[in-house]
Amino acid sequence: QRPVPSDIVISRSCVPKPIDCLASEIGLLSYEVELYGKTKAKVQLETIDRLRAQADGKYVVVTGITPTPLGEGKSTTTIGLVQALGAHLNRNVFACVRQPSQGPTFGIKGGAAGGGYSQVIPMEEFNLHLTGDIHAITAANNLVAAAIDARMFHEATQSDKALFNRLVPLSGGQRKFSPVQINRLKKLGIEKTDPSTLTEEEITRFARLDIDPESITWQRVLDTNDRFLRKITVGQSPTEKGHTRTAQFDITVASEIMAVLALTSSMEDMRQRLAKMVVATSRSGVPITTEDLGVCGALTVLMKDAIKPNLMQTLEGNPVFVHAGPFANIAHGNSSILADKIALKLVGPDGFVVTEAGFGADIGMEKFFNIKCRYSGLRPHVVVLVATVRALKMHGGGPTVSGLLLTGNTLCFVFQNLELVEKGCSNLRKQVENAKHFGVPVVVAVNAFKTDSEAELQLICKLAKEAGAFDAVPCTHWADGGAGAVELGKAVQKAAEAPSKFSFLYDIELPVVDKIRIIAQKIYGADDIELLPDAQHKVDLYTKQGFGNLPICMAKTHLSLSHDAEKKGVPTGFVLPIRDIRASVGAGFLYPLVGTMPTIPGLPTRPCFYDIDLDPLTGEVIGLF
Ligand code: ADP
Repeated sequence: QRPVPSDIVISRSCVPKPIDCLASEIGLLSYEVELYGKTKAKVQLETIDRLRAQADGKYVVVTGITPTPLGEGKSTTTIGLVQALGAHLNRNVFACVRQPSQGPTFGIKGGAAGGGYSQVIPMEEFNLHLTGDIHAITAANNLVAAAIDARMFHEATQSDKALFNRLVPLSGGQRKFSPVQINRLKKLGIEKTDPSTLTEEEITRFARLDIDPESITWQRVLDTNDRFLRKITVGQSPTEKGHTRTAQFDITVASEIMAVLALTSSMEDMRQRLAKMVVATSRSGVPITTEDLGVCGALTVLMKDAIKPNLMQTLEGNPVFVHAGPFANIAHGNSSILADKIALKLVGPDGFVVTEAGFGADIGMEKFFNIKCRYSGLRPHVVVLVATVRALKMHGGGPTVSGLLLTGNTLCFVFQNLELVEKGCSNLRKQVENAKHFGVPVVVAVNAFKTDSEAELQLICKLAKEAGAFDAVPCTHWADGGAGAVELGKAVQKAAEAPSKFSFLYDIELPVVDKIRIIAQKIYGADDIELLPDAQHKVDLYTKQGFGNLPICMAKTHLSLSHDAEKKGVPTGFVLPIRDIRASVGAGFLYPLVGTMPTIPGLPTRPCFYDIDLDPLTGEVIGLF
């Protein structure tokens, strides 16, 4: 239909298949599917065991050039490509996308169901609570935060003996350790299971975690862009007897628990990861874990349903897994390993699984390869790199999108300007090179907007091939659905048969600083890195504590290859400042904070929520996009 209606109007105009029908069409057995209403279901992990002997399908990762704040259509292209491969090229397909955060949904960017005629439906179900996974993460994360402060409070206000007696209460006239407490005893080198046999010195060691409040790295989280929570003081009520400290909130999707969900391989593995998360250091320098706090079992209980991927569908009826988190700038921003693995089995050897990595190739794709593929053992066959005329014009020296929104001047995007496009293709060239570092063929998808000229689209394709892309094609799946991405689908099919030689960017055993420097120089184009004092301290601490051999998850702006969002194109001559480093030991990475990157976004002057409402007559959601 022309003009293309709004996303929510398109989504609502299409009647989704009952999700149990879709599940049986793709080979899931009824007991493997847990229905959440008529349009969403969770899929049980046992499916992987049942299909163990089945060969995997082809694995495609979708990434992009450095985007504008509005996004250049990676989710839209992921869905469009799956619709093309499925409904038009007759392949078994699966899309694996991330669950959107309510921060951007109510902030500036809107939802993440794709757009136009390439969407996951129903988009309001997708964009809002889904099946509650993000809420489960908020609950689990904040239980840990509460456990830390409460434990410090109790330790400060009780004697060793009283503390011990409360931690190990009398039951039927006898004290008994819980299984988690027995693990803690083992960690302390105390080989006893009968509480009455502990010496006074052992009682003290067992009962006191002795957390250094200055060392706490665990933060509270909320799935809202609430900038006023970037720095807070906790414990101000008189009931906390003066035990105040400054702390902060992060956005939920940046929680280590979200990363655990994305990177875990089974329920048992998730439990172990949830137990290993380091939240602070004791005054004597020992890392304090969630297992020490005794909270890891409860976390597993809170996360037991979230671990199962959510099944939905595209507008054209293809299966989609929606699982784990976005925000490739401050998190690793990739969908879950479990969703990809189940999908690869379900499509079989001739099928395709298209998974999405967040933001530009310097961020989400780099983390996809160096973190996610390292843990999953999966190797993609093709990288699809999404580019748009509007973002390339911006990189070529045209106005930034936020500048345009401010002035209302959109002429640069409406009229053909080959010179700006050509200059801006420097960013495309660099991102193609970034993908090629990993030895996988790259197909550039030029996501066409109605204001783009044919000459602009063709110029981008030509320059992309010159930059080393396996192929480059314009596509119109936003306006035309799967039919608009058939050429892209054919290019991806061919690329998947091409020889590839996968390699990681860095060796995991290298010193922490070297790994960060390799990413900064090879992917971002920095001259060097500079470690600020907090970061240097953390490098020393984590190396000493034995966490130096983890992969790196950079927290950097997605709006530039550098740390400065204003620098477009391919910035050169900069030194990347590393302000601080956190350790996500359970998820399995070190997390350097580049520059002033906030870990909870704020709301713009005119947030999306102005347009969102419930139609009082029909009860339908309006204004989502
Ligand atoms: P990304 O995943 O890269 O962040 P999305 O796929 O979410 O980007 O797209 C961002 C927004 O742009 C969505 O609202 C989508 O509907 C819109 N969009 C994407 N492609 C087009 C297009 N070709 N024409 C018009 N709007 C588009």
